[in-house]
Amino acid sequence: MIFRNPAGAPELACDECGCRWYDRMRGACYECGAAVSAEARAEFERALQAFGARQAEGAAPPEAGEAAPQQAAT
Ligand SMILES: [Zn+2]
Repeated sequence: MIFRNPAGAPELACDECGCRWYDRMRGACYECGAAVSAEARAEFERALQAFGARQAEGAAPPEAGEAAPQQAAT
């Protein structure tokens, strides 16, 4: 399952016990040892990217390019 921390960033948590002590190296929960499915991890990656995109939108001016950094000619 995916939680949101107070900043709105996604946090991957265990489906079984709901704790957030997820061991990225083993792909399993620290607390109960339940494996975190590839599906859950993929979903978390998407949530992270969506969050990153929102962050970029909020923090940077709207004209900021993503692929090619260009100087705005005046
Ligand atoms: Zn767990």
